Amino acid sequence: MHPAIDRVLISRETLQKRVQELGQEISHDYRDTCPVMIGILKGSVQFLADLMKSTTVDHSIDFLCPSSYAGGTKSTGIVRLLLDLRESIEGKDVLLVEDIVDTGLTMSYLLDNLRTRRPRSLEICTLLDKSVCRKSQVPIRYRGFEIPDEFVVGYGLDYKELYRNLPYIGVMKPLKTEKNKK
Ligand code: 5GP
Repeated sequence: MHPAIDRVLISRETLQKRVQELGQEISHDYRDTCPVMIGILKGSVQFLADLMKSTTVDHSIDFLCPSSYAGGTKSTGIVRLLLDLRESIEGKDVLLVEDIVDTGLTMSYLLDNLRTRRPRSLEICTLLDKSVCRKSQVPIRYRGFEIPDEFVVGYGLDYKELYRNLPYIGVMKPLKTEKNKK
């Protein structure tokens, strides 16, 4: 295990199995249409890549990059779009693919923003759900795992841009601040 990780919360095998199930569910629900899966950068990259492979219906992908955490571990609630979609979503069936919904502030902002572009449908697929931390309610259609209020990394999720490559979801060891270094 990586030295920065205290414990594995969700193993590689458990992730892969659940993502397969989600892909099957999505394939069934969207069988009569050609959805666009929108990956929320950067955290959703591993999840999106695996989800695409387990989704058998034709679909396109696009990306959005919101910013709110500024490299730390707490949500600021201030959302900006650092990268916007390449294609119009007007009249399309849109599935937002997110790594984690925590306070829900980022997702609320994205839903409000995307609704103004008049998609035919707009749904959320999140790998992780920290619903105990919710400040803004968002309708989640597909959920991989419900997790407790702990800061997690791996499988796309970072701390200060690191650990996205880990194949599992792990809880980090307590951070060494000036106060608790000794
Ligand atoms: P929200 O706006 O729902 O509070 O936060 C959404 C974003 O915050 C996620 O897309 C993710 O980038 C980041 N985030 C929330 N909780 C965690 C966490 O436990 N670990 C990591 N690495 N990022 C998180």
